[in-house]
Amino acid sequence: MLKLDLHVHIKRFHRLADIRRRLKITGLDGFAVTNFWEIEFARWLQRRLEDALILIGKEINAREGHILGIGLQENIPDYRSAEETIAHIHDQGGVAVLPHPFLGVSSIPPIRRFAHLPVDGIEIFNYRAGPFLWPNTLAWLLTRNRTAALLANSDAKRVDMIGQCYNRIPGRSVPEVLAHIREGRVQRFTRMMWPTPRWAVRTARDVFWGYQNAFCGICHAPLHFIWKKQTRSCMECGGHIRTHVVCSKEAHFICKRCRTRRDYSIEAILAYRRENGLDE
Ligand SMILES: [Zn+2]
Ligand SMILES: [Zn+2]
Ligand SMILES: [Zn+2]
Ligand SMILES: [Zn+2]
Repeated sequence: MLKLDLHVHIKRFHRLADIRRRLKITGLDGFAVTNFWEIEFARWLQRRLEDALILIGKEINAREGHILGIGLQENIPDYRSAEETIAHIHDQGGVAVLPHPFLGVSSIPPIRRFAHLPVDGIEIFNYRAGPFLWPNTLAWLLTRNRTAALLANSDAKRVDMIGQCYNRIPGRSVPEVLAHIREGRVQRFTRMMWPTPRWAVRTARDVFWGYQNAFCGICHAPLHFIWKKQTRSCMECGGHIRTHVVCSKEAHFICKRCRTRRDYSIEAILAYRRENGLDE
């Protein structure tokens, strides 16, 4: 039985040594790297963390919401329909999982018009969504009789969250693990993060701080948060996108997709890591 967390975001500033230490402390056999946009960083990590079972994954922005593709060979395009996205994942031999299905924003609840989606797994417990109480409770109430594998993952964006929730899955290799997920042979382990006042303050601060620390990709002026969404056209791809966040100085706007493609290309990530000595 392997102990695996199947929904982990590894950021470019996470230290390799910290990730190795975290694997040791938690006793995890490995995890799926499910970053947005790209799988190159996941591939690179898989080569660097040879002792662990690293699954190449991606959290894909389908039109209807997020879908996890796990066990991927190639990048999967974003902004396609859920059906098309899942078909792409299956074509590559990967498994498709609905993450945090009742979180609201960016979620695809596997009921009603989405009930038929041919997903292999449903993330019935998401550690980071825990304090909101309703997403995991609804997932448990509404999907516990489904035949898809019911998973528990951390959705970690910090190293010390990796493995807070995990699954026990038989097998030794990536293909074996994927086959067992398809057959629903998964035992999940959940840990609750409670909505304490400290959590509320931290979450509010993280959201606020996130905007405070974001800068315009063109002139580096701080970005402003506006309550009512505005339609802006992206200066790189020309696409029209509705946004809450705009440059505070000029009307500069680069969409999230273009910005991410530029800042989070594998070359940019590795250069950043080299400069900051993150891979020792
Ligand atoms: Zn998500
Ligand atoms: Zn995620
Ligand atoms: Zn600007
Ligand atoms: Zn763009």
